[in-house]
Amino acid sequence: MAMEEKERLRSPSVWLPRDPGEAVRLKEAFGGDAVYVAGSTLLRTQWEAGTAPVPAHLIDLASIPGLDRIEETDDGLVIGSLARLRDCAAHPAAAGKAPLLVSAVKAIAGASVRNQATLGGNVVYRVGDSMPALLALDAELIWHDGRTEETIGAAEWLAGPSARPGILTAIRLPDRESGMTSNRRRWFAFHKVGRREAFVPSLVTVAIAASVAPDGTIADIRIAAGGGQTVPRRLTDAERLLAGRIPDAELLEHVYDAALEQYAPAPDPFAADSYRKRTAANLIAAELWKSLREPDRAGKGDGDASESID
Ligand SMILES: Cc1cc2nc3c(=O)[nH]c(=O)nc-3n(C[C@H](O)[C@H](O)[C@H](O)COP(=O)(O)OP(=O)(O)OC[C@H]3O[C@@H](n4cnc5c(N)ncnc54)[C@H](O)[C@@H]3O)c2cc1C
Repeated sequence: MAMEEKERLRSPSVWLPRDPGEAVRLKEAFGGDAVYVAGSTLLRTQWEAGTAPVPAHLIDLASIPGLDRIEETDDGLVIGSLARLRDCAAHPAAAGKAPLLVSAVKAIAGASVRNQATLGGNVVYRVGDSMPALLALDAELIWHDGRTEETIGAAEWLAGPSARPGILTAIRLPDRESGMTSNRRRWFAFHKVGRREAFVPSLVTVAIAASVAPDGTIADIRIAAGGGQTVPRRLTDAERLLAGRIPDAELLEHVYDAALEQYAPAPDPFAADSYRKRTAANLIAAELWKSLREPDRAGKGDGDASESID
């Protein structure tokens, strides 16, 4: 490698845009020679592993004021894309309105990485462990293409092409409790299974959110599964079976079969597809079974009782 090239790789130019429009204009000007940088935790692993080149230009999104906000609005909880995972996990509004997301975020990497990594970086990664929770919460992603903002559902975005012009500015979680009859409660479950207990990439990640009536009738249910390099997806067949029903052992057998059928994990060198499919289906059926056996827990909706993190 020429001396000049080595020098360039050692010291890429760092750009500090003041607004999304400037960030996008920089990217348009430098094209493939530039990347957006948030916490840089994922980018650095790619650069070190040689799976992505160190570009000549880094566009540091942390310089844009307000992108790290976390706030309750009339449209729900809005989390800026530059909000660090640590702050998402600790923020009272997130704990109150999105305990499922808090559970997912706490299961990502270790504290040192969470201090640096952002929720937006995890979303743009597409296979990040927050994504199943965001799908279960019916999250909306707010993008800025340099001129205007566009809001797109997380599921719709995942179904589209991975490269998208512009930057992700925020993640919005619609408030599902407004309009809900007072005797219904939100219920959720989250599981991440890896090759050891913690600080490990996922093999399977499962998230469920629903509202539950006092008699156990389930409504407004979303089930999502991902893990490893699997782009997370909603398991809509299992959802349809459960909507408007009180789960019993027989129904859960059908839910298990539907999840087994619809969950399609990407190949993983550490675990067979069949193991990961059975794991996802088992976790979903087991969580629903627990909600049935412990209806008072399901009805709390405070996130502690029904939450579980592996
Ligand atoms: C030791 C270690 C353990 C890890 N464990 C996990 C884990 O358990 N689960 C998990 O999901 N991940 C894990 N990761 C991966 C990574 O840390 C997280 O996914 C993190 O959330 C990425 O966020 P970031 O801010 O660091 O992203 P960055 O590295 O800054 O960016 C990631 C990608 O997103 C793009 N990008 C970032 N923000 C935006 C934006 N707002 N708009 C447009 N593009 C953007 C970047 O250009 C880049 O392509 C781990 C990483 C390390 C180093």
